[in-house]
Amino acid sequence: MTRTDVPLDPYLPQCGNTGYRVSQYDLDLTYKVVGNRLSGTATIALTVTDDRDRFAFDLGDTLHVAKVSVEHGPDERSTKPVRARRKAKFTHRAGKLVVTLPGAVDAGTALRVAVHYAGRPRPIRSRWGEVGWEELTGGSIVASQPNGASSWFPCNDHPSSKAPYRMSITTDSPFTAVANGTLVGRTTRASRTTWVYEQPQPMASYLATIQIGHYDAMRAASDPVPITVFHPARLRREAAHDFDRQSRMLAIFGELFGEYPFPAYSVVVTDDELEIPVEAQGLSIFGSNHCDGRRGSERLVAHELAHQWFGNSVTLGQWRDIWLHEGFACYAEWLWSENSRGASAAVHASHAHARLTRLPQDIVVGDPGPDAMFDDRVYKRGALALHALRAATGDDAFFGLLRAWTSENRYGTVDTDGFVALAQQRTDTPIRPLVDAWLYSAPLPSL
Ligand SMILES: [Zn+2]
Repeated sequence: MTRTDVPLDPYLPQCGNTGYRVSQYDLDLTYKVVGNRLSGTATIALTVTDDRDRFAFDLGDTLHVAKVSVEHGPDERSTKPVRARRKAKFTHRAGKLVVTLPGAVDAGTALRVAVHYAGRPRPIRSRWGEVGWEELTGGSIVASQPNGASSWFPCNDHPSSKAPYRMSITTDSPFTAVANGTLVGRTTRASRTTWVYEQPQPMASYLATIQIGHYDAMRAASDPVPITVFHPARLRREAAHDFDRQSRMLAIFGELFGEYPFPAYSVVVTDDELEIPVEAQGLSIFGSNHCDGRRGSERLVAHELAHQWFGNSVTLGQWRDIWLHEGFACYAEWLWSENSRGASAAVHASHAHARLTRLPQDIVVGDPGPDAMFDDRVYKRGALALHALRAATGDDAFFGLLRAWTSENRYGTVDTDGFVALAQQRTDTPIRPLVDAWLYSAPLPSL
């Protein structure tokens, strides 16, 4: 076993790589919608974390690498001059692109690795279904949770590896390309348009996305941050109505969870139906079936928005802690209901609890195992754990805890122990018994 083979995460042993820290992804891509052809260059700035001459990226096998080149720097600590770009040897099989440097480098060396590649991107097959880059009827979608990012770019595909991104996507002119971050450039030449987005806040690879389709853009709100809804022209009226209350949601969640972590928020409604909405950083994607003009999916609108705090800004370091994303987003659905003249969180909690009593009680929420990672029982029981904590500590302590959690870990990587420790710091009520019962035992505690 080489050092590049040590698994980062037992839930996804094939994903993620050791030996370096990514400091920036720069994706310069061209996509032809007809024929589903993606080509371009990914330039990955990284720092090597131990002495070595090779390291790996995750990259799907339907993409073909033509060339890899490496240059040193910029490295402030190094006294060596920046060396010229050199070709690197590589192998690409079974989802791993292994790059061998022209010579060994020391820990702390900064490198820029340029990977030139092309192919027809296809979703990655996983035990959770197909994830990643997928063709739509007119365009494409990226839905990568948990391990689909390598279907479209070489990356260290694990959420503990967060980095800023710059994405340039050139595609056929009638299409709109929406990616994470701020649109900083848009130029049309002949029949193609290049869209450039910058995402300076660190982002996990599974949250990186490019959405391509025939979309109209609607500015839904400008306060507390700009909210844009991208939608097919035929769904203009429905989208305007269904996503209208997002600025109120943002304001309420801002009060409960702390300041919204990103400079803007966007929603894409695809012309196709989607099984479930998709979360991305600063952006959520809904299917046409989630946009009925009657706010029939508003629960999910709140859920996806809450992921901007819980999942996107504050991100798990191991997938076993998935409840730190999904339990919190599910509880946010109940909080939105409670704060918008709907049923209280207590009523939602008691309904969810009643449903869970009728289902098998064989899941440990704090470590559900890879197969049950996206089981609805993890979501609902995670939310119930939070509700139990709120009931035990009181509203002031509980929401103070949520705000401390999001501000102390803004753009960071977290685990359940960190949450429990912070919670205990902020209350005299001993919370370990509650945590053990809700998160680390299979039988469902009473509410
Ligand atoms: Zn979710």
